[in-house]
Amino acid sequence: MMFNLDKKDFDHFLKDLLETHDLFAPVQLTEGVSVFKKIDNPGEVSLSQLVPQKSAKEVFFPQSEVMFRYQIAGNQGPTVSEQKIERERILLGARPCDIEAISIIEKVFTGEDYTDVYFAEKRKRTTIIGLGCNHPLSTCFCSSTGGGPFNRAGSDLFFTDLGDAYFVELLTEKGMAFRVNKFFKEADSEDLGLMKEIEDKASQKVDRTVPVEGIEKRLDLMVESPFWDRAHEKCIGCGVCTFLCPTCHCFDITDEAVNQKGQRVRNWDSCLFPIYSLETSGHNPRPTGRERTRQRLMHKFNYYPKNFGRVACVGCGRCILYCPVQFDIREALVYASAKRGKGRKGKFK
Ligand code: SF4
Ligand code: SF4
Repeated sequence: MMFNLDKKDFDHFLKDLLETHDLFAPVQLTEGVSVFKKIDNPGEVSLSQLVPQKSAKEVFFPQSEVMFRYQIAGNQGPTVSEQKIERERILLGARPCDIEAISIIEKVFTGEDYTDVYFAEKRKRTTIIGLGCNHPLSTCFCSSTGGGPFNRAGSDLFFTDLGDAYFVELLTEKGMAFRVNKFFKEADSEDLGLMKEIEDKASQKVDRTVPVEGIEKRLDLMVESPFWDRAHEKCIGCGVCTFLCPTCHCFDITDEAVNQKGQRVRNWDSCLFPIYSLETSGHNPRPTGRERTRQRLMHKFNYYPKNFGRVACVGCGRCILYCPVQFDIREALVYASAKRGKGRKGKFK
C-alpha cells in the first residue's frame, strides 16, 4: 500500500507516534555529527545526514548495556533484570544499509542454539521505518554487497523523500498497522513516478564494482599472504572502524561491584585492540596489528559468509569516512581479488 505524508504534517505524525511508542531516530549532536537515540519531541529528529556516525545497531545493541543488577545475601543473590521494554518501539529514518546490518547481527544473536534475550526482545518489539538515500556518498558501496540505496529488505514501512512530502510504502504486517493513519493520503501515479525516478538516479550513483562475490574463497588462499604485513602498517588500532561499523557485534562483559552489590554490563569491544584476544596465560594469538587487521577482514568476508551465506559488510562506507589514517576497505577487497602473480600490483596504498 502506498501513501503520501506531507512534510508539513511530519512533526504531528511523530507527535502521535510518541504518544504510543518509544521512538528512536537520528539526532544531530553537533554540526555534522548525528547518532541514533530515543527522542522525546519531534524537533530532535534530523534526517539530513545520510550516514550518521553511529549506526542504528545501537537501538538493538547499545554500546554499553546493564544486563542485570545483583545483591549478594549469603550464598545467594537476587538478580534484577534491567531489560525493561514497556512500550512498542519505532526506529525511524534508518537507511537501507543500517537495516540490512541489523539482520546480519540478528543471525548471530538469535541462532538455533542460543538466543540473546537483550537483542531479541528489542528486535521483536521494534517497527522499522526505513528511508531511501536520494544522494548516496562516494564512499557508499551497498550495491556491491547485495543491497542498494532503496533496498527495502527489513523495513516495515519505507519512506522516500519527494521534496515536499514522503512517499510511504507499507511492506509488512507491522507496517500495515499504519494503514489507517490520519496523516497518510493515498499516493497517485505522479508520486509513484517521481519515487521511481529518484530511486533510479540514486541507484546509478552507487559503486557496484567492489569485488565481493566469492571473496571468502579468495581469502582462504590469503591467510599467510604478505598483504597483511602491508595492510596493517598504517592502522593505528584505534577501533573507530569497528565501533562505527553497523555489522560489528563483538562485546565484553564486566562485573562492576562494590561490596555486596553490583551490576553486570556488556560493552562493545573491538578485534583491533591488542588485549581483545589476550588470554589469561599471557599468550596472545593475535599479537600484532597484522593478525588483528586480518581478523577484521576475515571475519567480515570469510568466516561470516561461511556461516551465514553472505558477507558481513553492507557497504555503508563509515569505516572509510571516519578512519583517521584513510584505510580503505574497498582497496583491500580489490587487492584480495586481483589475480595472483603479475596482475596483483600494489593497489593497496
Ligand atoms: S579506523 Fe583505521 S586506524 Fe582505526 S582501527 Fe580502523 S583501520 Fe585502523
Ligand atoms: S566494514 Fe565498513 S563499509 Fe562495511 S559495513 Fe562495516 S563500516 Fe560499513
